[in-house]
Amino acid sequence: MSRLGEGLPLETGVPGVFLSPPGFERVIGLLRTGVAALAADEPFHRLVIPPVISRKTIERAGYVAAFPNLLGTVHGYGGTPSGWARLKPLVEEGGEWYAQQQIGDLVLLPAACYPVYATLADSALAEPAKVTVEASCFRQEATSEPGRLRSFRMLELVTVATEEHCLKWRAARLEQVEGWFQELGLDVSVEVADDPFFGPGRKLYQAAQRLQELKWELKVPVADGQVQAVASANYHKEHFGETFGITAGGELAHTSCVAFGLERLALALINRHGADSRQWPESVLAAFGGADA
Ligand code: ATP
Ligand code: ZN
Repeated sequence: MSRLGEGLPLETGVPGVFLSPPGFERVIGLLRTGVAALAADEPFHRLVIPPVISRKTIERAGYVAAFPNLLGTVHGYGGTPSGWARLKPLVEEGGEWYAQQQIGDLVLLPAACYPVYATLADSALAEPAKVTVEASCFRQEATSEPGRLRSFRMLELVTVATEEHCLKWRAARLEQVEGWFQELGLDVSVEVADDPFFGPGRKLYQAAQRLQELKWELKVPVADGQVQAVASANYHKEHFGETFGITAGGELAHTSCVAFGLERLALALINRHGADSRQWPESVLAAFGGADA
């Protein structure tokens, strides 16, 4: 295999950050086509999302309060040129040249769906909003077992609408995605899940989240002895509707999203069928459908 790799992600020397060679990107491409085929039964608006988001939006959405340990912030130097002259030698010495870096108005995007809610802020929806988004996400994960990256891509189907619509939509999509994973030959289990809230309230939040079945995860093996959630189906109740002032049918809007972790899914497929997707069984390749991504 060449130094630049073929099928599996290349290590970069920092945990949870990988380079994707062509064979791996072919699998990611198949996944994009497959999700587009799944989503072809509804008119989704497709948005490509940058890897950064307004810090204020993420504060407002409650992410900082719940997951301060996972958020990657963006800092920059706001000092004077003469101030920098004093700091500059520290770069070569391996010193703290960054001591005067200041937080900016952006943070690294932690999940692909946040920009959708922020974009719909202060609107009144007469019809359900349906959006597909793909973004590079960042989470400052504490561990780096197989499938746990710090920089990874998330593809999501998102809807903003009434409570009834969001609940039905999520249930139908969850069932559809489970069936799709089975067609792909993946050994999938569907489980009620929670998010890794940080701090003293953690257990309480997680219990409430589980009790209300707000999050379902689809788990599959991504490596020998390593099962990870490759997708989740989430219902946020009126949390984002309230936060961003969105209404649907005259009431506070509810939201649901189905999020696919592209790298995890690619790893799971490679673990199951081998690194060269061109050699995968016809039945598996057929399960990606042919819709335009
Ligand atoms: P919410 O919208 O409720 O904030 P979400 O559905 O957008 O949550 P998660 O459920 O946390 O976000 O993540 C969605 C998917 O992204 C996971 O099922 C997984 O496949 C992928 N993912 C999450 N964290 C990582 C990670 N550290 N490395 C690789 N993939 C990840
Ligand atoms: Zn989401």
